[in-house]
Amino acid sequence: MKNLSKSKLLAFRQCPRRLWLEIHRPDLREDSPATLASFGAGHAVGEVARRLYDPKGKGVVFDPGTQRHADVLAQSMTLLAGRNPIFEAGFSAKGALAYADVMLPIKRGGRRMWRMVEVKSSTSVHDYHRDDAAIQSFIARRAGVPLAAIALAHIDSQWTYAGDGDYNGLLVENDLTDEAFDRECEVEQWIADARKIAGRRKASDICTGEQCRKPYACGFVDYCASTETQADHPVAWLPDVRRKQLKEHLARPEIADLRQVPDTLLNALQLRVKTQSLSGKPWFDRKGAAKTLAPHGSPAWFLDFESISLPVPIWAGTRPYQNICFQFSLHRLSRTGKLEHEAFLDLSGNDPSKPLAVALIGACGKRGPVFVYSASFEKARIRELAERFPRMRRDLLAIDDRIVDLHPIAREHYYHPDQEGSWSLKRVLPTIAADLGYETLDGIQDGGMAMTAWMEAVFPGELPSRDKAEIDRQLREYCKLDTLAMVRLWRMLSGKL
Ligand code: SF4
Repeated sequence: MKNLSKSKLLAFRQCPRRLWLEIHRPDLREDSPATLASFGAGHAVGEVARRLYDPKGKGVVFDPGTQRHADVLAQSMTLLAGRNPIFEAGFSAKGALAYADVMLPIKRGGRRMWRMVEVKSSTSVHDYHRDDAAIQSFIARRAGVPLAAIALAHIDSQWTYAGDGDYNGLLVENDLTDEAFDRECEVEQWIADARKIAGRRKASDICTGEQCRKPYACGFVDYCASTETQADHPVAWLPDVRRKQLKEHLARPEIADLRQVPDTLLNALQLRVKTQSLSGKPWFDRKGAAKTLAPHGSPAWFLDFESISLPVPIWAGTRPYQNICFQFSLHRLSRTGKLEHEAFLDLSGNDPSKPLAVALIGACGKRGPVFVYSASFEKARIRELAERFPRMRRDLLAIDDRIVDLHPIAREHYYHPDQEGSWSLKRVLPTIAADLGYETLDGIQDGGMAMTAWMEAVFPGELPSRDKAEIDRQLREYCKLDTLAMVRLWRMLSGKL
């Protein structure tokens, strides 16, 4: 059997079935756009780490994706005799194989030794990082590497990029040497157990559950779910499951369908989801919805942002993973019922924040409610803009004051069984406006796809590229549909259909 890589061992730690499928049925894996985006984030952070840990550029960089494993392993051991940093050095021992992000030569007690740094695109240390470090150090030490220390470097989300390519301070290190070295017996057992699983003829019978999402989203979830009998009304449709008693009830393996959940364990919203799902009938509190919306007069505005969140900021004054809006769509409904549309989209690659703020102030008028869907995102972005651009602060905060969230109003007063426990706009829209639908859009159909499209337009060399004009069109259509959907929802909820 081939050596098991660190990623395979981490897959085993998540779920033994995942390890088996990764080895024997990789064709069944379908990583989500979010997972693929996280690979891209890791790549960008890795590039910066090389510059930070090797400012003179004297180090050697391996590429295990294109180089032969045997060559990387052999050359890595040879380079340990040198004095320069090594990136993606490969080591193998005890049936396992791992590549170290960064190897730095140090002196300890007069002896030349090495310090290993694992670089992560996260903003803190997670338990699975500790497993990762333990595996890395075990394999390196058993391979004969004189390893003095191991650290994990992650992104400091509070750091602000000053510009000019200066990324000093982007990464913070956590020393994990003692705990990683202390876990060698554990790691040895993981490798032995994982190799047994890998050698089996069949995948373990493990049901889908919490482990399919944590610590990583598993790319086999569609396949695994397709092999299980699905409940007619899955308990996963229940929103906001927080109460201990309910959680304990749902954790029982035989509980799969809403029929098996006693009403007494449910709050009013959960009970509504159960009742309407089982009856197959929608529920609409017309009077209550109209009464809630009545104080918000007209003209009415309907606003939606699209944003990009980069692990390595590229614009001065911005932080890692800060949501930077590059687009908005705004519908305006006049007192007479006339509907107008305005939009902003910046694919130039320059920081879009200031021109977007200017355009937003110009488009939003001075009075009337500004409806959004799940307000915390739009409010946070507007307040960030107000903080960054003091001259526009008053106007931006005035828009913020006018924001009204349609999401809690829809949750409180409307539910259709087709929503399957979700009040996302994409779930609600088909139940109220059959003529509008995200599936009719050719190209971008959700926020993740919008981010990917922005990346394609701005960094055309890094992703398989579509035509920029086509991306522009698709982004505009997608964002416009979001605000048009809000208009339709508002009309229904306010009784103005
Ligand atoms: S989807 Fe869940 S059960 Fe299936 S392999 Fe992945 S983690 Fe295991």
